Amino acid sequence: MVSRGTPVANEQVLQLLSVRLAAVEDNLRAACVRAGRTRGEVRLVAVTKTVSVEIAALLPQLGILDLGENRPQELWRKAEAIPQARWHLIGHLQRNKIERTLPLVHAIHSVDSTRLLEALDEAYRGPAPLPILLEVNASREASKQGFTVEELPRLVPILAKVKNLQVAGLMTMAAEEEDPERCRPTFQLLRDLRDSLERELGRPMPELSMGMSNDYAVAVEEGSTLVRIGTALFEGLSQ
Ligand SMILES: *Cc1c(COP(=O)(O)O)cnc(C)c1O
Repeated sequence: MVSRGTPVANEQVLQLLSVRLAAVEDNLRAACVRAGRTRGEVRLVAVTKTVSVEIAALLPQLGILDLGENRPQELWRKAEAIPQARWHLIGHLQRNKIERTLPLVHAIHSVDSTRLLEALDEAYRGPAPLPILLEVNASREASKQGFTVEELPRLVPILAKVKNLQVAGLMTMAAEEEDPERCRPTFQLLRDLRDSLERELGRPMPELSMGMSNDYAVAVEEGSTLVRIGTALFEGLSQ
């Protein structure tokens, strides 16, 4: 495996990452073509949770500016070291970590309770509304965070009162499946939930954060606008 820490090793990692990025890019384009969509409708968020700050810092050099972390402390560490990236929080946020997280993030994909939503709305003081997505447990797994499919429609009056956040859309994690085709119903459900919430609220909710290394092609076919990809880029590079 590639060693790290020296300029030579970084060259090797850069080379490897650019090859992997090209493969992901090909798959994204092909999925867009199949779905009659344009590549510009889908943003790639590189999930850096398994790699060092040094490796994460190579992504902007490759033109990837959207980076994601699932743990707030790790996001703080990397975002402070790589401020030129747009940082996406994609995992659970405890309310006592809101203050430190808000100034560092471009978007939060993982708003999973009304208490968190209200606390974020209260705490956020930016020039423009902060984009947030509501995490939905669309695969109905006991182990998963997020709003249930049933409680989502009941959020409308609460969402209507949000002032400092932009409720930009929904996020989900599909179940782990050998065959990504089996994730398709989860992605279709998320899109339907977004469509009805959008109608009820009377505000655009353009974003669907869905699709990971194993299932992003299917997610793009079903309307994903944000794919969150870790393993397909960073496998074997873990710190
Ligand atoms: C780790 C993680 C990803 C990336 O998953 P891969 O399968 O490694 O691409 C995406 N979303 C969330 C919420 C994650 O925690």
